[in-house]
Amino acid sequence: MSRIHLPSTSDIIVIGGGPAGASAARILSAWGHGVLLLTKSQSPMPTLAESLPPSCRKLFRAIGVLEAIDEAGFYRSTGNTFWWGNDQMRSEHFADDERGYQVVRREFDHLLRDQAEAANTTVVESTVKRVEFDADDTATVHVATDSDCRTPVAVEARVVLDCSGRSGIIARRGFRRQSAMPLTLAIAGVWERPEGWSLAEPSHTLVEAYHDGWAWSVPVSTSRRYVTVMVDPRETDLDKAGKIAATYRRELAKTREISGLTHDAQLSEAPWACDASVYSASRCAGSTFLLVGDAASFIDPLSSFGVKKAISSAWMAAIVANTCLVRPDMGEVARNFYTAREMEIFSTYAKRTAAYFRDGATMHDHPFWTGRSELNYDLDHNSPTAIDLDSVRRDPTVQASFAELKNSAEIALTPGDGLEIERWPGIAGREVVLEERLGLETPITGRVAVRFVRNVDLPALVRIAGHHRHVPDLFEAYNQRYSPVILPDFLGALSLLLATGALINGFGKEV
Ligand SMILES: Cc1cc2nc3c(=O)[nH]c(=O)nc-3n(C[C@H](O)[C@H](O)[C@H](O)COP(=O)(O)OP(=O)(O)OC[C@H]3O[C@@H](n4cnc5c(N)ncnc54)[C@H](O)[C@@H]3O)c2cc1C
Repeated sequence: MSRIHLPSTSDIIVIGGGPAGASAARILSAWGHGVLLLTKSQSPMPTLAESLPPSCRKLFRAIGVLEAIDEAGFYRSTGNTFWWGNDQMRSEHFADDERGYQVVRREFDHLLRDQAEAANTTVVESTVKRVEFDADDTATVHVATDSDCRTPVAVEARVVLDCSGRSGIIARRGFRRQSAMPLTLAIAGVWERPEGWSLAEPSHTLVEAYHDGWAWSVPVSTSRRYVTVMVDPRETDLDKAGKIAATYRRELAKTREISGLTHDAQLSEAPWACDASVYSASRCAGSTFLLVGDAASFIDPLSSFGVKKAISSAWMAAIVANTCLVRPDMGEVARNFYTAREMEIFSTYAKRTAAYFRDGATMHDHPFWTGRSELNYDLDHNSPTAIDLDSVRRDPTVQASFAELKNSAEIALTPGDGLEIERWPGIAGREVVLEERLGLETPITGRVAVRFVRNVDLPALVRIAGHHRHVPDLFEAYNQRYSPVILPDFLGALSLLLATGALINGFGKEV
């Protein structure tokens, strides 16, 4: 490697040019910050092919890369096919005929890094050796600029984003939580069958459970597919004495459908293995750093949501980093908000995959399955901030308030004793701000701090409620001033405010 020139400072340093790092760098550069993205040189090892669900498109559009991704010509999939929990094949098509992407990660990551560069990020291929945090709220990143790493170069930054994935260059300095989680090893191979595969849905990702592991196959063209087995080095009956290729073939032979698929295909890359064990973090932010994407937490590959999670984590990290730089007094609020959100997302995905493993365990009574189904992923995070209006509508007090509203010729709404306005962090554009929420308690939800119910802005509704004598006038005034909502949602929200005592209707009552 020839010696690389690096600046001595940068507003923001992003370590790692995977989906999280490239996306965060692109967003922050587009917002006018100086961003240096440092990423290891690509190893000659093959990379995995991964499935990205159609819902990623919304994120791609938000960060301005959708067109480039669509033009790149990745193989598109129409859904997933499972043999899971029973012997029956289950084929699921993506809703509304949408299509996902089957991407070879080397190509996908390259595209995202190019997109970051196009937005003015300085992208440098080099390895970060360590990061030091200085007392004056700067961080110093030590970068290897020559192949023997004898003279790492120091670059100072106000914010460092650790997007180094499983390596976790900052995350591993005491923040990673992994010990209680099961281990998963992925062993992958690439198969060719020039005449294609005899499958009803050749673009589908295939997932097959077997006695002590599961197999997964991602097609990247009509003739080439990646086939990976997920095993537990402690629980799966692995052929550890043999070479990795023999272990791989032995595991594959435990499947019925996927081994049938590959029996007359050509293995075109020697199988390789990588760690796919789940982990989280005790916190995801410090005064000058954020842990982003897989550096913060890793969800089971079964979900197929790792890349989506990484990009949405990058989006949030960009908002938090921007807040720290332009409004330092909000820095701590923003960082705590970030940690809470990352933990909530990890725990939501993890609970969902534990349920899939419970399904698998109904057919395979083996520690591989039972161990993964029994995990308790409840992490400490703040009290709930969302209300499911449909379930709240079953509350008799909400129903009574709704009936009263319907029968009221007039209304006279005033704040009640149950009105508690709290200040909570939320997002406004590119910043974390403190926004008003209402502290409400219902028998169904318990206590929640909430701003919106079905898009109805509750503090805003409380503010204008007293200015109108008829519900239709209040509804019209609300829709003129704020983002319009539909009448059933508006009435549901108003009934909730009355039922919880945040508002009272004085019409026709003695004062
Ligand atoms: C077996 C398996 C199957 C998966 N299947 C899917 C799937 O089908 N769909 C899906 O959405 N997700 C899948 N995932 C998850 C997905 O791969 C990750 O969630 C995603 O890659 C996270 O992106 P990231 O940018 O956070 O981290 P990474 O993609 O790991 O990127 C980290 C980057 O940091 C660089 N780096 C590391 N250390 C340093 C350093 N010291 N200095 C400089 N650079 C450094 C690395 O080279 C890399 O470029 C799978 C994962 C595994 C293991």
